[in-house]
Amino acid sequence: MKIAVLVKEVPATDKVKMDEKTGTMIRSEMESELNPLDMYAIEEAVRVKEKIGNTHVIAISMGPPQAINSIREAIPMGCDYGYLMSDKYFAGADTLATAYTLSAAIRKLGKFDLIFSGERATDGETGQVGPSVATQLGMPVVTYVSKVEKISDGIVRVCRSVEGGKETVEVELPALLSVVKEINEPRIPNLSGKIASKSKEIPLLTAKDIKVSSDKVGLSGSPTRVVKVFYPKLSRDGKILKVKNVESAVNELIKFMKERGVI
Ligand SMILES: Cc1cc2nc3c(=O)[nH]c(=O)nc-3n(C[C@H](O)[C@H](O)[C@H](O)COP(=O)(O)OP(=O)(O)OC[C@H]3O[C@@H](n4cnc5c(N)ncnc54)[C@H](O)[C@@H]3O)c2cc1C
Repeated sequence: MKIAVLVKEVPATDKVKMDEKTGTMIRSEMESELNPLDMYAIEEAVRVKEKIGNTHVIAISMGPPQAINSIREAIPMGCDYGYLMSDKYFAGADTLATAYTLSAAIRKLGKFDLIFSGERATDGETGQVGPSVATQLGMPVVTYVSKVEKISDGIVRVCRSVEGGKETVEVELPALLSVVKEINEPRIPNLSGKIASKSKEIPLLTAKDIKVSSDKVGLSGSPTRVVKVFYPKLSRDGKILKVKNVESAVNELIKFMKERGVI
């Protein structure tokens, strides 16, 4: 079997800075890391490999050259190797262009039986890329996958977490599974794996390598535009109550709320 896992490099902070003029993220000032939710996708792919045997798990990412680090994090977790799609033409991609690039790469890298993605990236948070890749590759997609129950005879049976319960779904392979956190507990890679991963060759593929035209990727291939980015301004004035102890704090609060007709 051949399994791809989509992994994304994201800022290692929830304090993402945006350029209000261009509407893009200021990535140069940020530390980055492998999207934490993609670790569950990696772990599940590796568990399938361990169960079925004779399987390769390949991490695939699109991003700037430093995104290679997310693949270096994926390898010690059990991925066999990885590829990074990186090219100046890929910059400024929206979710459609990102999925277009990733699906072109997957086609170029051969026939995959299964593709795993995280539920969402912790920066963009649209959750669109996995389903869009499946659509562009013409394969079924199952979202919110919380358990892979069975893979046999060209069919994968999974359990989905849906509002108020669980749903069992069977789809034909090849298929894309977008997994949720409850699916597993990602393993912690050991030190020797981390060291070995540092020297592993990770090919960088360009638009030319994956045979996509530059007007279908990056900003030119993106039908959506960020028209305005702004920080919400808080207009409420806070009031600090100076008190000696809990009792007087409670009394002051009651007085304060009574004055305003809250209680
Ligand atoms: C209008 C618009 C303009 C944008 N412009 C820019 C810009 O100028 N510069 C910029 O850096 N970003 C830009 N973005 C953000 C960029 O589109 C997203 O970061 C990217 O498309 C992934 O979407 P997401 O973060 O919502 O991922 P989600 O859909 O939430 O991710 C779900 C899963 O898909 C997979 N995945 C997602 N992205 C990748 C990837 N790159 N490689 C491999 N797997 C992946 C992962 O498994 C992930 O867990 C823009 C977005 C929009 C909507």
